[in-house]
Amino acid sequence: TLSDRLTSVLKNLRGKGRLSEADIDATCREIRIALLEADVALPVVRTFIAHIKERAKGTEVSQALNPAQQVVKIVNEELVGILGGETRRLNLAKTPPTVIMLAGLQGSGKTTLAGKLARWLKEQGHAPLLVACDLQRPNAVTQLQVVGDRAGVPVFAPEPGNGVGDPVSVARKSVEQAKHAQHDVVVIDTAGRLGIDEELMRQAADIRDAVRPDETLFVVDAMIGQDAVTTAEAFRDGVGFTGVVLTKLDGDARGGAALSVRHVTGQPILFASNGEQLTDFDVFHPDRMASRILGMGDVLTLIEQAEQAFDAKQAEQTAVKIGSGELTLEDFLEQMLAVRKMGPLANLLGMLPGAGQMKDQLAQLDEKHLDRVQAIIRGMTPAERTDPKMINASRRQRIARGSGVAVSEVNDLVNRFFEARKMMAQMAGRFGLPGAGGGKS
Ligand code: GDP
Ligand code: MG
Repeated sequence: TLSDRLTSVLKNLRGKGRLSEADIDATCREIRIALLEADVALPVVRTFIAHIKERAKGTEVSQALNPAQQVVKIVNEELVGILGGETRRLNLAKTPPTVIMLAGLQGSGKTTLAGKLARWLKEQGHAPLLVACDLQRPNAVTQLQVVGDRAGVPVFAPEPGNGVGDPVSVARKSVEQAKHAQHDVVVIDTAGRLGIDEELMRQAADIRDAVRPDETLFVVDAMIGQDAVTTAEAFRDGVGFTGVVLTKLDGDARGGAALSVRHVTGQPILFASNGEQLTDFDVFHPDRMASRILGMGDVLTLIEQAEQAFDAKQAEQTAVKIGSGELTLEDFLEQMLAVRKMGPLANLLGMLPGAGQMKDQLAQLDEKHLDRVQAIIRGMTPAERTDPKMINASRRQRIARGSGVAVSEVNDLVNRFFEARKMMAQMAGRFGLPGAGGGKS
């Protein structure tokens, strides 16, 4: 997976200064592969990666994230952005009925979607009318009637002898019928072909001209991968559309089609279909699709966690101890180890309001010094760590010998610890942290 590959590329990198060109290149190489594996079209991948590199170059290295994580974060943000950021809502006509026309290849899921959309619209308080304009295949009308029944939504279809035999006049009549029967939304199901062809496009364009839809939704099977781009371009040029619906997301497609279609046509993705049941349908969520394309929901979660610097539960426990002046050297060591994994120690105190001064001091401690502090605490017995008051002169000598430092350094650490603990407890009291004696303000 992408996460594994990134981990091996970035094992030895640390967050210092700016992201180096080499870091960015290495990370982008992996992301490029991930995008191609997700079936994003090559020209789209190229443009996208070029843009990411530009953006990554100007970025300061964060304290919480390593360079790879940071590039991934940028990529994720850009993906979510391209995929639409906030989901766009359906355009409703000022004067009902709102006309929604579905277009797409045969088998893309238009008829199924018509049912899903009708059910969803009904749930939103609308009174939709389904319209059968696929008169090409023998069973197409019946199929729409079946989904209409399931959704509890009426279907307008040509009847033998009622004079509306062609798709264009069915569409036109359906809008009149909708006005007459107080349907505020009309959903028009159209015919598709297995491939793009002139006749199909002309028919869709004729229906479009007859009813002037408020939304023309291009329905595309997420599993068709690279072909999504050519198909989308053909429909954009032949019919034009205002939004995209992705279907069959329950399959194993990584969803690159979404990015390609969106990138190439500039039209938003409004809905996602993920199954054969009427309820397998949702408005489109760009963030979910972004992590699906990257195939790294886990990495994104890790990034979020790293940014929070350390976990909330531990923070709470520590806060209680700080507030009651019970912080031990054991806690101190634990925190130090946890925070060292994440970045500078200063982040730990970043959690405490008003700890600015101490934060600066801690930021000045260099890594070597931290190693020695760690060695000293490791050289203490558990009892000493829990109750540092018991660390008398002879214990200090023993600890110094055991950890290879001068006694003065042990003295220093113990004294600084007591000072810090006192200061933190006072501060916690002032800011009303849990466990703080006089903090109930
Ligand atoms: P149309 O030719 O564009 O009208 O496509 P249909 O609505 O008839 O769908 C073609 C096939 O795909 C049918 O067998 C549907 O049950 C199936 N289908 C449609 N949408 C989905 C979906 O989101 N997930 C899955 N698994 N199957 C779907
Ligand atoms: Mg159909």
